[in-house]
This record gives sequence, C-alpha cells and structure tokens, in this order.
Amino acid sequence: MPRIFAISRHRIATDGKGVTTLVAMHGCPLNCRYCLNPQCKNEATSFQDYTPQQLLSEVAKDNLYFLATGGGITFGGGEPLQYPDFIAEFRHICPEQWTVNIETSLNVPLKNLKIVAHLTDRFIIDIKDTNPKIYRKYTDRDNSQMLNNLQWLVDEGLQDRCKIRLPLIPDYNKPSDVSRSRIALAAMGFRHFEEFRYTTDNR
Ligand code: SF4
Repeated sequence: MPRIFAISRHRIATDGKGVTTLVAMHGCPLNCRYCLNPQCKNEATSFQDYTPQQLLSEVAKDNLYFLATGGGITFGGGEPLQYPDFIAEFRHICPEQWTVNIETSLNVPLKNLKIVAHLTDRFIIDIKDTNPKIYRKYTDRDNSQMLNNLQWLVDEGLQDRCKIRLPLIPDYNKPSDVSRSRIALAAMGFRHFEEFRYTTDNR
C-alpha cells in the first residue's frame, strides 16, 4: 500500500488538462541534489496509507470539477511508478471520464511502467539530462533504465501522451546540454517538451 504524504486539490493548468488533484506518494529511487520535495524521502514525514477505494472516496469530492473541465488525478511524489498496481486499480475503479496523469522520473523497472502505460492519459517525465555523466552526478543513479523506458514508450506508440521536462540544472548542465537532450529525444519521436530552470533553494 503506498504512503501518501499530500493531496493537493484544485490545481489548474499545472499538470494537464482541467482541474486536477495531485496525489503525492512517498519514496523515490533518485537522490537529486535540488530535490523539490525532500519530504517525500524523509521517514519522519507524516503520511497516510490508502487503499485505492479509500483514495477514490477522498478525491471524489471534486468529481464535478473533473467532469466539467476534463481534469482528474495526477500521481506525483516522490516516484509514483513505485506503486503501479495501486495506480492501475485506482484507474479501474475511478470514473472513466477522469484523466489520470503521472509525474515521474521514469527511472523504474520496465515491468512497473508496463502495468500502467496504457491506462495513463499523460506522462509528465522529468528526464534531468540524457548525458549519463551529468545524470549520475546530479542523481547518484544511472540513466540507462530511464532511456530504455523512453524507447519502450515510443515502441508502444505512446510518445504523444508524454510531456518531457528538460531542466537547466545550475552547476550540473548547460543550455547546450539541454539542447542536446531535446534533439536526441525529438529524434526518438517525442514532440512535447518543456524547458525550465531548477530552483536551488533546497541545496
Ligand atoms: S526525482 Fe523528484 S522526488 Fe525524486 S529525488 Fe529527484 S526531485 Fe526528488
């Protein structure tokens, strides 16, 4: 059962179409230097365990907003793809008209991605950098799993459900690195990109 440390309602135009509720899940395999949600990795963070049915009861209070705007639920964190069975079950019991988005680093086993890929309306993928050296320096992890998962999404024809976030990471990459990542991913078949700069407040 996933630990959920925050449920944030009434988000507009932040992570997909319409009004969304962000469900923030505890835990992440990466160790980003400027992590925006350090509480997602902190064992002292207060959180609650939910079953999919309990979560549905909690978020259904915004059903009318979701139906009127084409919105729904965004799973974030932390790394929500640590809990693919939970997300799949939630997708099966929530109203069909709700959209389900997943904010992820995609650095998870492919079997996790396969469980939810075709049930997800939109992936918002923060790839950090495609350069393995920059990625490792910034996250302490290897990026080959993430790159393989991106290729699998293309092979499944799901690239247009993906928005790729390309951060400029102060002290770790340069605008030319961001461009290189974008060109490589566009060559793979991705078309939706967002470039932005990380804040270093949590440094
Ligand atoms: S992937 Fe996100 S949640 Fe995980 S360490 Fe990096 S910034 Fe934090």
